[in-house]
Amino acid sequence: MPIKKIYTEAYPLYDDGEHKVFWLGIEEADEEHGILTNQYLIVDGNEGAVLDPGGYFIFERVARNVLSRIPQVNIKYILYSHQDPDVIGTINLWYEEAPMAKIAISNLWIRFLPHLGVSESSRIVPIPDRGDVFKLGNSKIIAVPEHYLHSPGNFGFYDEKSGILFSGDIGAAAFPKDEWYLFVEDFEEHATYMEAFHKRYMSSTKALRAWVRYVKKLNPKMIAPQHGAIFEGENVKKFLDWLESLEVGVDVFEKEFWGD
Ligand code: FE
Repeated sequence: MPIKKIYTEAYPLYDDGEHKVFWLGIEEADEEHGILTNQYLIVDGNEGAVLDPGGYFIFERVARNVLSRIPQVNIKYILYSHQDPDVIGTINLWYEEAPMAKIAISNLWIRFLPHLGVSESSRIVPIPDRGDVFKLGNSKIIAVPEHYLHSPGNFGFYDEKSGILFSGDIGAAAFPKDEWYLFVEDFEEHATYMEAFHKRYMSSTKALRAWVRYVKKLNPKMIAPQHGAIFEGENVKKFLDWLESLEVGVDVFEKEFWGD
């Protein structure tokens, strides 16, 4: 399905009245500006957290959809999964757009941020390797370590109330041209859009299987990646089982480039 106009607005993934989660839209023009990305907003009471707000060309749409749901002074956090340009490319703009927000990213990437024009760092929060917990209203967002999947300093974010795990690049899919959907329906077909990405961008089979073990215990209701489509219902289990059987990164690289 091609990207339709209707998806330019924020779309609710969860809403119990007090706690809400939104996917922040997509536009046809996004296809011309690199791999498609997903952005998310979590709201609890009157506090909000924006996850992986993304790069330059989508800033206007993401900011509009965030501010249609929450006043800018109530944005408590900007949470970054890792340091790629499609994730943190507008960090200097968000520093101004969310004037009260703490901006959290792995402690590995703090020293690189001034290169994006972030010269004032009093609101930058380093996430330690073991993870952290962010209080939002009456809810908690847990930073789940995802190191080497793919970045050496990488975090997913688990929203306890909604049961949604925002997985960063794990679960990413690169759609063929003119193909797009928000929720995975046919898992087997979707896996063909994920395989090459995971084999080359994910670093380590060992790290990946450790993450799958952790996430199976966490038992999320939904897994929402930064690229591609969202897994819910039985597709969460299918996705985790698929990851568990996949060889990625250095393990594939060693064989393909240097032989057994
Ligand atoms: Fe990435």
